[in-house]
Amino acid sequence: MKLARLAALLVFPLAATAAPALAAEKPRLIVAISVDQFSADLFAQYRQHFDGGLQRLSEGMVFPNGYQGHNATETCPGHSTILTGSRPARTGIIANNWFNLGLPREDKGVYCSEDPRVPGSSSKGGQYTVSSYHLRVPALGDHMKRANPASRVAVVSGKDRAAIMMGGYRPDERWWWDHDAKAFVNPGAPATPRSVASANDGVRDALSRARSARDLPRLCEPHSRAVPVGGGGGPVGTGRFARDADDRNGFRASPDFDRATLDLGEALRREMKLGEGPATDLLILGLSATDYVGHTFGTQGSEMCIQLMALDEALGGFFRTLDATGIDYLVMLTADHGGHDIPERHREHAAGDAMRVDAALNPGNMAKSLAARLRLSGDVLYGDGAFGDMYIDRKLTVAQRARVLREAVATYRRHPQVAAVFTRAELAAAPGPSGPPDTWSLIQRARASFDAERSGDFVVLLKPRVTPIADTSRGYTATHGSPWDYDRRVPILFWRKGAVPFEQSLAVETADILPTLAATIGVAIPAGTIDGRCLDLDEGPGTTCR
Ligand code: ZN
Repeated sequence: MKLARLAALLVFPLAATAAPALAAEKPRLIVAISVDQFSADLFAQYRQHFDGGLQRLSEGMVFPNGYQGHNATETCPGHSTILTGSRPARTGIIANNWFNLGLPREDKGVYCSEDPRVPGSSSKGGQYTVSSYHLRVPALGDHMKRANPASRVAVVSGKDRAAIMMGGYRPDERWWWDHDAKAFVNPGAPATPRSVASANDGVRDALSRARSARDLPRLCEPHSRAVPVGGGGGPVGTGRFARDADDRNGFRASPDFDRATLDLGEALRREMKLGEGPATDLLILGLSATDYVGHTFGTQGSEMCIQLMALDEALGGFFRTLDATGIDYLVMLTADHGGHDIPERHREHAAGDAMRVDAALNPGNMAKSLAARLRLSGDVLYGDGAFGDMYIDRKLTVAQRARVLREAVATYRRHPQVAAVFTRAELAAAPGPSGPPDTWSLIQRARASFDAERSGDFVVLLKPRVTPIADTSRGYTATHGSPWDYDRRVPILFWRKGAVPFEQSLAVETADILPTLAATIGVAIPAGTIDGRCLDLDEGPGTTCR
């Protein structure tokens, strides 16, 4: 391919520019992959060591500085940007969980991918109905079906919120892991495809047996060292994914989880014959294990090293199987957010200021302190953690709410772990972000997560290197969600057989992915309906993006 292009350039330089390879023929299949919590830092750290599917992608069309530019760098908002071309302020997905104090049910919490109108439901796991109700904009699959109803869309994911936010409104098949059912499910599906039933049989069998420890690759040996964790949890750093029979948490936070997701994705593609129909099809894969590994063990122990090398190998096998079909496919891989290590290990090397959050910042504790100071009763303040959107109790009078707002904002702003607090009035008045995402101010990052109907009365942004998990006894030791680049930066990788590789290191946004993919298959996106910009995958400006 490279030689052919070179020859074309020598003989017909103008013609070669006018008819770029990628845009000339539409791919028959788009494979869109999200690796949950796959930060640009992890990609850079392991890139030289990949020899499987991630190596293939890292030698393709590479944007190493992709940005989930917004403040609340969580799974649901992040996945909502990947295939909609829009930031959370437009997708409406401001967080994984928010509050609607006017909701006519006892639980005022809202889970991003539930339908709270379902009688008897709550935002708690196992009690909600999975739905795209909150997603305000269509996703790539919806655009493809609008352009050509013959396009088919299938989604397989380790998390329901990834399946919903990337799959959009009307995928043909959508299957996600249900941790209680210990299976890939979709209660609303008219029928269960054979591939799904068979995958679930395989998972059931694997879960019913104990698993011995994985080999420690040589590369991972220096990472294997026990590090004590503050907050009541046990040490991490030497895990190799051994587990007892029926250990579903151990399964989910291990390479086996991604392997099961990829295997089902491949089997479903084969059963549906995606990429073999009259129109371009779309296969969406949400690989969630990296996130569970990061949360459980942090990012710099044996666990993440083994996970990423296993993911690289599993993706390599997945691509080879696709290669064997002869289908012309285009891959896009990115992440819903980045992440960083446990503060205890961060402190070892030049980050002595890395710390766990002061539990006084948790909204429950803050509410008690505010109630005592202002002589109020009731819940006073709602929030999903020590950072993000905070909501003032609607049962208070208007005057009481104004006092709570003043006092709460001042208290949070005074705290040494808090970087900034923005009120909803300040955010509503702030202009939306513009320019490259690495240059956005803090209020612009928060504005990119602001939804007038769903956002809180104020939003709290913690300082860099503050891990918002005080209590580690329940199994989570590290996390993400901040407005800082370790949580915002993710790789955006494209690969297609025969495409000319390149690397563009300037900052781009995950919102740019939708217009880019749409351009490669000639699907028009109505002007003014998205935030992203088309990225040229061919040489020369305006080639892919016509
Ligand atoms: Zn995530």
